[in-house]
Amino acid sequence: MKWLFILASLAAWLQEGRPVTFSTNFDSGSLGDVVLIDSVWVRPSRTDSVLHLSYEIISRLDPDNPANPELQPSGRWFFFRMENVAGKHIYLNFRNTDPKRAVYSYNGKDFHRFEHYQASLRKVSALFTCDTVYVAYFIPYGWDMLQQRLVQWTGLSYVTMDTLGISMMGLPIQMLTVTDPQVPEKEKDRIWIHARVHPSESPASWQLDGLLDCLTEDSPVGREYRRRSVFYVVPFTNPDGVYGGYSRSNARGINQEINWDHPDSVTSVEVEALRSTMELLTADKPFDLVLNVHAQSSDKASYYIHTAESTSEEYYRKAMLLANLTTDDNPYFFPEDMFYSSPAPRYVEGWIWNRTQGKTLALTIEMPYSYYNENPEGEWVTIPSLRENGEFLLRAISDYFQWNVPGRYILEGTPKGNRTVYRYDMLPAGTYLIYIWEDAWIPYDTAVRKRPGPFRYLIRSKEKPYRGLLRVSSGRVE
Ligand SMILES: [Zn+2]
Repeated sequence: MKWLFILASLAAWLQEGRPVTFSTNFDSGSLGDVVLIDSVWVRPSRTDSVLHLSYEIISRLDPDNPANPELQPSGRWFFFRMENVAGKHIYLNFRNTDPKRAVYSYNGKDFHRFEHYQASLRKVSALFTCDTVYVAYFIPYGWDMLQQRLVQWTGLSYVTMDTLGISMMGLPIQMLTVTDPQVPEKEKDRIWIHARVHPSESPASWQLDGLLDCLTEDSPVGREYRRRSVFYVVPFTNPDGVYGGYSRSNARGINQEINWDHPDSVTSVEVEALRSTMELLTADKPFDLVLNVHAQSSDKASYYIHTAESTSEEYYRKAMLLANLTTDDNPYFFPEDMFYSSPAPRYVEGWIWNRTQGKTLALTIEMPYSYYNENPEGEWVTIPSLRENGEFLLRAISDYFQWNVPGRYILEGTPKGNRTVYRYDMLPAGTYLIYIWEDAWIPYDTAVRKRPGPFRYLIRSKEKPYRGLLRVSSGRVE
């Protein structure tokens, strides 16, 4: 009997090869439990046989939340390695999480989305061609990746890095400052951006990565951005969460997003570090803009716009201006994608509203994981499209503050009766497209300047005069 069992096991081993194993002992790795549901040999032809294995993948829940015990821990994020899968057909059924089409990689670096025929909500069905495969909710942007990027960015003379504090597990909370140190601070707009409060939200990091590359570019436009601004950027506000593969919490189970109104003794060390740095940096002058960069399971990019009723008409107008500038000429993000809410003090926006009463515009921006504009027929989210969204965001910030960068001048008008006069000191020679602003840039006119010189433009209105912004952009007139 015993011999029979050994022979049968040996036969199975010879036939099936080495058993499939699962592991997560790497940066951002996460998996709760795996249950083998079934294992079946299928003979697609007389000479061929394929092992079909189906698993239940139970993603790991965050620790119980000591600060908000009423909240259910999230288990959205998973990122694991499977070995010995070559030539086997693997079915994965996800629990505790909701991937629409998960991603995979054969080397842990270059990720692909499973094809439509291989994946659907909470399911994957794929025949793998390599022995090792990584599977994740979305393309990871982990601690090691950030450290490599920081080395590149901090190699530039206009980027410095500080440590705001140490996370519970001993990782530094890193902040980049990007600005042209030759230009006095008082002439600059001050912008604070932080991301990865929720560690599963790696699309936020890909977007921020694209923004930072544009901001640090050695180009006339990049140089002008840095002359006009100081950017304080905290790429990972929750480094333990990112490194440890958590979903929405830090290593203690705290959701850092909703603890801004708690005293230091109750909130996390990470929120404490962010708050004290922001207080220090705004002792003399508030930030002009604060962006809290996230990703969401809703299949669209969004800003959370605070209503005029919950803030002020002026604040709402500023928020809508930035939002509309971000969606302008953006193939991924549209005006109808916004959410509307009130600034509660547990969030960073509410904390800032209470401190500045609207002097600082503070907004949360969200990128999706799956597709844009709630359109599954449209483009699915990729690294290039997220990075492009970072570029669009920086362009919107530039227009919002009316930075005149080479080739793109945003002019405010002076009313003169029913006319509005726009002026710019020194416009280079060239052909220009002129736009007016009606919650989007609307082509209005063209202008040719044979030689460089002062620029003056007049809009005459018969009825209600146009008083809005004018954009003068270099371009080819068809
Ligand atoms: Zn979030």
